[in-house]
Amino acid sequence: MKGMLKQIDPKLLTFITTHTCTSACAGCCFACSPKKRGSLSSAFMKGIVSRVASSMPSIKVVVFTGGECTLLEDELFDTIAHCTRHGLNTRIVSNGHWAIDDGTRARTVGQIASTALTEINFSTGAEHQKFVPMSAIAKAITDCAKIPTIRAIAVNMEAHIDSEKPNERLMHELKLLNDTDSMAQLQNKLLLLNSPWMGAYRSNELSAGQINTRHCDNLFTGIHINPEQQLLACCGLSSEHIPFLKLGRVADDGSNLLSLYRRQYNDLLKLWLYTEGPTKMLKFCGAEHPMNTHVCEDCLNLLLNERYLKRMMGIGSDKANSILLNYGLKAEQQAKAHPNGQ
Ligand code: SF4
Ligand code: SF4
Repeated sequence: MKGMLKQIDPKLLTFITTHTCTSACAGCCFACSPKKRGSLSSAFMKGIVSRVASSMPSIKVVVFTGGECTLLEDELFDTIAHCTRHGLNTRIVSNGHWAIDDGTRARTVGQIASTALTEINFSTGAEHQKFVPMSAIAKAITDCAKIPTIRAIAVNMEAHIDSEKPNERLMHELKLLNDTDSMAQLQNKLLLLNSPWMGAYRSNELSAGQINTRHCDNLFTGIHINPEQQLLACCGLSSEHIPFLKLGRVADDGSNLLSLYRRQYNDLLKLWLYTEGPTKMLKFCGAEHPMNTHVCEDCLNLLLNERYLKRMMGIGSDKANSILLNYGLKAEQQAKAHPNGQ
C-alpha cells in the first residue's frame, strides 16, 4: 500500500507533557490528578521540535497540554522559547491553577511573556471549577490578553446538558476586571468554545444526520506524543485507552519519529476510521446504534471489542478497495482545503 497512498500533511505537534495535574476532575479523559507521575523532558521535546521544524514543514503549531503543562515550569518555558526560535507558533492548554494566587499568577504571566507564546487555551466548566474558580480564569485571561505575542485566548468550556450558563458567568467576571477599552481589546483575542466532555452528550440527543457526520478528522493530521514518549495516532478523548492508537515509543533522539508516523498509512483500519468514523463502523459491525455518548467513546467500544475487531478483519477486497478509494478522496479534499498544510 505504501507509496500508492496520498499522505496527509500533519499540521500540529502536540506534547501531552504530563498526566500530573493540580486538579482531579471527574470525567478527565486521561484520568489526570496530582497522584500521576511522569513527564516529558525539555531535552526530548526540543529535539523533536528541531526535527519536525527541519523535516515536516507543514507543522506550524506546537501544542503543550496534559495534565497541567505549567507544572513542568522551566522545562516547559525553555521548550516554548525553542519553538519560537524555530519560527513555530505555540499554544499551551492550562486549567489556570496558577492564577488563584496573585504572586504565582504574576510570575507565570512573566514566564509566559518571556517565551513569546502565541496562543493560550483555558479549560473550565462545572467540574473544573471544583478546583479552579472562574474568577481565577478571568484574571488569567485579563493578564494574558496584555501579552503582545498572544494572538488568541480560547476557553474550552465543558459542554453539559442542563448546565448553568458558564459563558455568561465568565463574561461577567471579565467585566468586573476590565474597563470598556480593555474589554474590547481582550475580546479581539477571546474565543469561547463548548468542549466535548466525555459523558456530556446522550445518544438520544443525536439525530440520524448527526450520526452520519460523526467523522474523525483527528487521525493523520498531527504528531501527538504522550508522557511515556509514545506516539499516538490521535489526541482524542480515548487515545490513551486504546492500544491500537499507540504507534510505538519515540526514541530519545527522535530518530524513529517519521517512520512511526508513516507506518500508520499501512493500516487499513486506521484509514477506515479516518474515512467513516467509529460510529458508522459500529453500525457496520452490527452494534445497536447509537449506543454511546461521544464519538471517541464509540471508538473505545469499537476497538476494544474482540467480536467487532474480528468482523472488521474479515472484510473482503470490495470493502477494502472502497475504503482506499474513500481515503484518497478525503485526503484530496483536505489537501485542497488546507493547501501547504495551512
Ligand atoms: S484540569 Fe484538565 S487535565 Fe486536569 S484533571 Fe481536569 S480535565 Fe484532567
Ligand atoms: S474518534 Fe477515535 S481516532 Fe478519532 S479522535 Fe476519537 S479516539 Fe481518536
